[in-house]
Amino acid sequence: MGEGAEAAGGPDFSLGVAVADVADGAVVSGRVGREPALLIRRGGEFFIVGALCTHYQGPLAEGLVVADTIRCPWHHACFGLRDGRALRAPALDPIPCWRVERRGGHVFAMEKIDEPAERERPPVPPRLGRVVIVGGGPAGLAAAHELRDDGYTGSLTILTADAEAPYDRPNLSKDYLAGSAPDEWLPLRPRGYYEDRRIELLLATRARAIDPNARLVCLEHGEPLRYDALLLATGAEPVRLQIPGADRPHVHYLRNLADSRAIIAAAAGASRVAVIGASFIGLEAAAALRERGLDIHVVAPDATPMQKTLGEEVGRLVRVVHEARGVVFHLGESVASIGEDHVALASGTKIGADLVVVGIGVRPVVTLAEEAGLAIDRGVLVDEYLETSAPGVFAVGDIARWPDRRSGEKIRIEHFVTAERQGQTAARNMLDAKERFEAAPFFWSRHYDMTISYVGHARAWDRIEIAGSLQNRDCVVTYFCHDRRMAVATIGRDLDNLRAEVEFEESTGG
Ligand SMILES: Cc1cc2nc3c(=O)[nH]c(=O)nc-3n(C[C@H](O)[C@H](O)[C@H](O)COP(=O)(O)OP(=O)(O)OC[C@H]3O[C@@H](n4cnc5c(N)ncnc54)[C@H](O)[C@@H]3O)c2cc1C
Repeated sequence: MGEGAEAAGGPDFSLGVAVADVADGAVVSGRVGREPALLIRRGGEFFIVGALCTHYQGPLAEGLVVADTIRCPWHHACFGLRDGRALRAPALDPIPCWRVERRGGHVFAMEKIDEPAERERPPVPPRLGRVVIVGGGPAGLAAAHELRDDGYTGSLTILTADAEAPYDRPNLSKDYLAGSAPDEWLPLRPRGYYEDRRIELLLATRARAIDPNARLVCLEHGEPLRYDALLLATGAEPVRLQIPGADRPHVHYLRNLADSRAIIAAAAGASRVAVIGASFIGLEAAAALRERGLDIHVVAPDATPMQKTLGEEVGRLVRVVHEARGVVFHLGESVASIGEDHVALASGTKIGADLVVVGIGVRPVVTLAEEAGLAIDRGVLVDEYLETSAPGVFAVGDIARWPDRRSGEKIRIEHFVTAERQGQTAARNMLDAKERFEAAPFFWSRHYDMTISYVGHARAWDRIEIAGSLQNRDCVVTYFCHDRRMAVATIGRDLDNLRAEVEFEESTGG
């Protein structure tokens, strides 16, 4: 994934570093031989670990050390300092970790520590011999990965309607769509992974129904699958436009890899794009297609882009950033119809467009759960352990509505990292861990060279405080409700975002 990787420089920790030169709490960048590494001191303890996050190669030196873990500044992956283990998504692979020896006032990096095979794991409940996961998105994959990591050796099946093995969905509206990320970056796991871990991955396989009493998953084609524990991770699907012309072949939605490829193919022969919707997907697609040199017009009923999630001020900044690149906004407008070479707005204006991308929101795919009689409320209802109203059936990711202790509300979130972390928690709970899901929701959104990171959840707020400068894209934006900090968005201040994540989690015990 390239970003952030750099030639290893600085002191070689295998040659020794004077203890006196490393202050308590310090994170020193250096290397072990040719590998970039960090030396970290916590009181009398020293740790030496790899310097790059295994998710997107983010620079861990700019991250946050929390107890004996380190968190990545870019997408909040978390690694153990004692063994390098990836403890929390989005990273699934460990970072290198070296044994540290202290001799004569110096510390030395010794041999690499392999991930301890005999790490303490809870015993796998004997009743659990078959796990079925419906949905091959990040939530389903992270659950399968965690089950195997935690020592589950029984049968494990992921079935997914998608024709592709689990991939990096957020990239579909970013570098991949812009043409700067090759296909090889997209798979979330390397070739051979599923076979090595004995995960049966059934692609292009759709579940038609589930029967929680008989513990069966019925497929559209083929024999039903029996399960002892079931994970529903069916994600979300785009809301469709219902206007004349919406079914024209040059009208596209963006949810899966096939959609992104179809837009790329259409963009090759297009020059003017109408993006309908000014939220995350629409505007990220606008940015990516602008980078391909296409003319972009964005139409949306909102007065300010992304206002509902990020507020007026950040929304205005997003607009300015896009306008500076030549994107034209038609706000407070809606599309009445789509013609062969234009979209017609309700106000009567016509905008030339030979490609239309629609991003007007998604809805959770809850049919399986609903038809099986599981409790539903604008999503699949789960308890704090992510179990649905049917024992042994868990639901995670974009479909799950769970009790959030911070807000005191049941919430449903459409974030990549949150989906993966829920998958991890549900997997541990299948193994009887009885772990509450309490990770603070986190997402990021990229527009050209600007990344917005957001942690927490503020459905509504009565006050916004901005520290730093929005204009200089260097700020912390805090959303309060009744004087309670509900969420924090940052631009150019990743460390503050990580600190907010820790504070949110400490305040709920998560
Ligand atoms: C273009 C795009 C960009 C995004 N960018 C960001 C971002 O920058 N940051 C961020 O935090 N989030 C982002 N998101 C949101 C994030 O990707 C989602 O929150 C996340 O993918 C949800 O994961 P999931 O596993 O719950 O569901 P999904 O990823 O939607 O996966 C669900 C899977 O279930 C399968 N499925 C559905 N029904 C069935 C069935 N009946 N039988 C079998 N399989 C079925 C689907 O085919 C799919 O593979 C983005 C989303 C999109 C579409």
